[in-house]
Amino acid sequence: MSDMIKKDGYDYKFNPLACQTCQAKCCTGESGYIYVNASEIEAIAAFCTLSAEDFTKKYLFKNGYKYSIKERKVQESYECAFYDRASNGCLIYDVRPQQCKTFPFWDYFKTRVDELKLECPGVVDAI
Ligand code: SF4
Ligand code: SF4
Repeated sequence: MSDMIKKDGYDYKFNPLACQTCQAKCCTGESGYIYVNASEIEAIAAFCTLSAEDFTKKYLFKNGYKYSIKERKVQESYECAFYDRASNGCLIYDVRPQQCKTFPFWDYFKTRVDELKLECPGVVDAI
């Protein structure tokens, strides 16, 4: 399929059309960390018309020395604070963290493709 995205060093490809019907499995489901660095905090705070300090208090928590976006518990699932169920989209899409922009091409998944396939229906083997 011509819309497939491939990246050097990865044994899989990604079909972005899958996002239309997937209900954002990468933004919901199991609890996880959505890390933001200092420049991302500045950018997202500005996008939300908040100071970095107020944004941090409202939307972030610390894990070790890093900040992660808070999640909401919805029934037995968790979802990112910026996931919008009504539109099935990201409320901060234009300034979303690099971690979100680069999914599903993370180093972590290079050797864990089966785990990734369970999370992301857009991932298929690159053959
Ligand atoms: S889990 Fe995969 S298919 Fe679903 S929205 Fe995220 S990137 Fe798209
Ligand atoms: S910031 Fe946006 S793209 Fe990233 S997990 Fe949250 S809702 Fe999803």
